[in-house]
Amino acid sequence: MRIGHGYDVHRLAPGRRLVLCGVEIPFEYGLLGHSDADAAVHALMDALLGAAGLGDIGRLFPDSDERFLDIDSLLLLDSVMEQIRARGFRLGNADITIIAQAPKLAPYIDRMRMTLAARLGVAPDRVNVKATTEENLGEVSTRGIAAHAVVLLEEPARAINL
Ligand code: MG
Repeated sequence: MRIGHGYDVHRLAPGRRLVLCGVEIPFEYGLLGHSDADAAVHALMDALLGAAGLGDIGRLFPDSDERFLDIDSLLLLDSVMEQIRARGFRLGNADITIIAQAPKLAPYIDRMRMTLAARLGVAPDRVNVKATTEENLGEVSTRGIAAHAVVLLEEPARAINL
């Protein structure tokens, strides 16, 4: 088994869409970034790449590349999963924590989970999404939205040379 961790944060700004785990959430602010700035999917991709030893999304999808401007991060996730599968890895499970003071994310959690599970090609019980505030103590979670992700990848069995 291989474990991976990912973290991402994006700043909230007016005039932007708020997309988390591929789900658009009505809110007066959205996340600022080169892509759609889906911090949760970005953290998930970094966790997957970390577990597989494949670097990080900054290296794979540089924000200097016009191809990734305003791109749906789920498309980037597809590309990451392709690379993971090509190396024979299988996703054991993924657990994502979104840290946001606002908006309330509870009504969207199930849709986020279903969206990611479908995209990752696994049963929904292998994907967990949760959200928390920081009790107004965190500057990041009031001015932006952060996300952590951990994943477990299962490696293909290898012959053991005794
Ligand atoms: Mg990001």
